[in-house]
This record gives sequence, C-alpha cells and structure tokens, in this order.
Amino acid sequence: MPVRRIVIASQNRHKVQEIADMFAAAAPELEVVGVLDASSQPAPEIEETATTFSGNAALKAKGVAAWLSELGASPDDLALADDSGICIDALDNAPGVYSARFAGPEATDPDNNRKAVEELAARGLEASTAYYACVLSLARVDGRPMSLPMPESGEGDLYIEDGTLCIEGQCFGTFRAQARGEGGFGYDPHFWIDEQSRTFAELSPAEKAARSHRGAAMDLLLAQLHKILAIDPEVG
Ligand code: IMP
Repeated sequence: MPVRRIVIASQNRHKVQEIADMFAAAAPELEVVGVLDASSQPAPEIEETATTFSGNAALKAKGVAAWLSELGASPDDLALADDSGICIDALDNAPGVYSARFAGPEATDPDNNRKAVEELAARGLEASTAYYACVLSLARVDGRPMSLPMPESGEGDLYIEDGTLCIEGQCFGTFRAQARGEGGFGYDPHFWIDEQSRTFAELSPAEKAARSHRGAAMDLLLAQLHKILAIDPEVG
C-alpha cells in the first residue's frame, strides 16, 4: 500500500523539519515533507488575503492541495498549512493576521515590534494583555471536504472552514514595551509569560514549544490524528 503523505505548505525548511519530527513520533507510518521536497516544480506563492487566521490557513492548505492535484499526486495526500500571529488587547487585537507586515509589506521583526510599542505608547500604555494564535488547516488533495474527528467537536479548537479541518492553539501572556531575551523570533522579546516571569525570547526552544500556540495546535492535531485519518480514509 502506498505511504500516505502530508505535504506542509511552507518553504521554511526549519519549520517543516520541526513539524515532521512531531509527526514522526506520533504517526511514523506517514511521509511528511515540505512543498520544496514534494515536487521538482516550483511551489505556489499563495497570497494571504483573508482576514482571519483560519481563512488564511485554509487558503494556503487548499492552494497547495490544488497544486499537488495538478501535479498528479495521490488523491489521498493531505496538505497542511498554518497561520499565526499576535493579538494585543489594547490595540483592539491588532496586529492579528497582519503580524508579519504590521509596519509595512517589507517590515522586519524590529520594525513590527517598534510599531507595537509606539501604538501602546500612543495610548499611554507600557503593557497590555495579549495572545498568540496559531491555526493549522488540513485539506485533501482530491478536493473532497474534510470531516471533524468527532461530530461534537465542531466548536472551539477544532472546526471546519472552507472544507478544511482547522485546529487552533493559543497562548496567553502580556505584551510589554520592554524587550528581553535573545531567543525565538518575531514578537517574542516583548511577549511576557506571567507564570514564568520571562519572555518567550528567554525560553529554550523546548520550553517555548511546550507552551506556545503552535505547540498547542500541533498537540491537539496529533492527539486526534488517527481519528482524523480513519474518518478520512484513503480512496483505495
Ligand atoms: P506566519 O504564520 O509564520 O506567517 O507568522 C506570522 C507572524 O506572526 C510572524 O512573522 C511573527 O511576526 C508572528 N508570530 C507568529 N508566531 C510567533 C511566535 O511564536 N513568536 C513570535 N512571533 C510570532
């Protein structure tokens, strides 16, 4: 029987490796590859035009699934995409889906952090509660809609959007104007985890993964994975 494949909709080899390692422990029977290793054809650039994390994750998962289908991939292959960002309460949940481009289309992490700090200062604040969110989206290559692993799990962290199965993870903390730490990326030097009295940038990668929005979403996906694959069996 051919190996069932999950293709990660990311050109970032580091992210793909991290996700592949998590799958390897939970479901060694699957082949998990990034778009760069899925085909010799150039992977599609999918514009993130939605206004929600799940909308963008679904766009990317469906775009890669359609690309794989055109290339003649097995109809049973799945595409997995993610979208993530930070929502700062005092900024009305901005930057949200615009986290990577908060200070403009070519913005760097320091540009985005500076803008967030300035926006807080404009409101007379040095800190605000905030959360990171990550939505994973799974789409079938044959275009058939995905199903929920349990009918009752249609709310909260697992839901269907645009025929894809979405799994959401969140991590709550405080965005502080004062930056601390050298690790992580993006907004991490400003993202304070209250019970740790440290920022995400002061945690080791393993400590961050155990608490992060991405770790939470992946844990939920892996816990449900065999049910998800069983109700979305191969066409055969
Ligand atoms: P993407 O979902 O990988 O495109 O990430 C969107 C943006 O959200 C990133 O460029 C960061 O600005 C921000 N972001 C998402 N996850 C994290 C995180 O774990 N730490 C810091 N910033 C993050």
